[in-house]
Amino acid sequence: MIIARTLEDLTTARDTLGPVNFVPTMGALHAGHLALVKAARDAGLPVAASIFVNPTQFGPKEDFTRYPRDEIGDLDKLEQAGCALAWLPHVDTMYPAHSTTSIHVAGVTAHWEGASRPGHFDGVATVVAKLFGQIRPTAAFFGEKDWQQVQVVRRMAADLNTHVEVVPVPTVREADGLAMSSRNSYLSAPERKAAPALYASLTRAASAIVGGKEVAATLQKTRQELAQAGMVPDYVALVHAHTLEPIAGLIRPARLIAAAKLGTIRLLDNVPVG
Ligand code: AMP
Repeated sequence: MIIARTLEDLTTARDTLGPVNFVPTMGALHAGHLALVKAARDAGLPVAASIFVNPTQFGPKEDFTRYPRDEIGDLDKLEQAGCALAWLPHVDTMYPAHSTTSIHVAGVTAHWEGASRPGHFDGVATVVAKLFGQIRPTAAFFGEKDWQQVQVVRRMAADLNTHVEVVPVPTVREADGLAMSSRNSYLSAPERKAAPALYASLTRAASAIVGGKEVAATLQKTRQELAQAGMVPDYVALVHAHTLEPIAGLIRPARLIAAAKLGTIRLLDNVPVG
């Protein structure tokens, strides 16, 4: 596996490899990230993965400085997973002092994570656009765990004529249903026990809605279940799967999305509906 840390190294590596598929990450890698690498490999091209904890997608009160980092472990996992190239840019490489451009994707960012975390998706869209420009991949693989993010990146990739195919990959879960996340390592033992309630409640609610139960009442019941599990729900919503606009009744394609605080950790999950 080639490890590139400068744009010069990256250009040399890209010339050596030819067309590549791409998996962007913020490191602290787990089986969810490795499923993206596998999907990218299975799509038939050498895989480039990036590890970059992107400061511009963290709010001022968020966990940028204490975000988990494990470069040695991550490089080992990428190599084992068959990655051809690891791109580990320095923050000054991504954001030189003279750079002033950022990307705002309107519409699909209006609600949910976009509303709860102002500026977050500008940071995501900008860094992903820059990574696409640096790597010039054929296709890029993103986790459905961050459902709204996939739709934001899709919109950006199409609107900016990047010629990158954005491929969603199903969420990888722990045996008890909890969606894998680098931030799960922050959960205390009792929080870790409570955390699977999010996926369990969403799954129940999705079947209830498909079975004809009233949407508003079902969402309300889900919020109550999360509160009973010790969480503070941020949002629980039935949305159009691509526009992320809330829907009052089941119109396909639909997605049930939720965010809830458990202690200091914000859990995020979503399931298909019908
Ligand atoms: P992150 O390192 O958290 O920025 O995530 C990098 C990529 O991995 C994103 O496309 C995430 O959606 C994806 N990802 C994170 N957790 C999971 C998971 N449990 N299953 C599938 N993909 C995931």
